[in-house]
Amino acid sequence: TVEIRNLGKRFDSTEVLRGLDLEIRPGEFLCLLGPSGCGKSTLLRILAGFDQPSFGDVIIDGRTILGTAPKDRDIAMVFQSFALYPHMTARQNIAIPLMMSRLSFIQRQPLIGRLAPGGRSVKRRIEAEVEHVAASLRITAQLDRRPAQLSGGQKQRVAIGRAIIRHPRLFLMDEPLSSLDAALRTQMRGELVELQRRLSITTVYVTHDQTEAMTMADRIVVMMEGKALQVGTPLEIFHDPQHLSVAQFLGTPA
Ligand code: ATP
Ligand code: MG
Repeated sequence: TVEIRNLGKRFDSTEVLRGLDLEIRPGEFLCLLGPSGCGKSTLLRILAGFDQPSFGDVIIDGRTILGTAPKDRDIAMVFQSFALYPHMTARQNIAIPLMMSRLSFIQRQPLIGRLAPGGRSVKRRIEAEVEHVAASLRITAQLDRRPAQLSGGQKQRVAIGRAIIRHPRLFLMDEPLSSLDAALRTQMRGELVELQRRLSITTVYVTHDQTEAMTMADRIVVMMEGKALQVGTPLEIFHDPQHLSVAQFLGTPA
């Protein structure tokens, strides 16, 4: 369980997060839904460790993660802009997190690190894992291309592959489909949910698109002005908005 307690973030005089409380349940697909500027990306960046909060706490399985380095958090994030390494192939991009952990493994255990149990080299195991992830994202045929030679949807699949290859404890996505065309967006919504269910990977998905939240989420968090105003299943949120501002944002009668 991830507990976010009274989280606050100020940039100079602007209060962006104003005491946000939220619990993320193991294995769930949680959508953060809210208008532009309400603090969605700021919250994800704090969870991932790219930014520090002004106050409050984030507790995973009973332990605070604030103050720990991003690489020690076991949290992966996918951005709207993909953020792939342009000079590397899809295969190399997806393998990066495993290569990094392999390096630290070898540094710690110089002799044993080179050979995995069963005699297969670590390199072979990494290759097999990349192939497996690529197959589940249906980009096997594109693995040896560089990002410039891939479509938007394929690039985003590579970014998702890179994020999930280490089976992170928490998987964060910030509007990952917003730069794709409508048809591809619809298709990838279904695929992402299916992948998330299959891996039962705890996921927080940021969007300002109601249809997206409605069709993908186990639970939706309606976020406004730096607070979680209402949390519930899509049906609860849309049929029983608890605040006038939630109802107004959703366009449903209060
Ligand atoms: P969008 O849906 O447009 O992506 P968002 O909900 O993700 O919006 P954030 O990016 O979290 O919103 O930004 C929330 C507020 O914090 C905005 O008013 C933004 O201008 C401000 N903000 C974000 N980052 C910084 C920063 N580094 N310095 C100053 N202000 C910032
Ligand atoms: Mg944002």
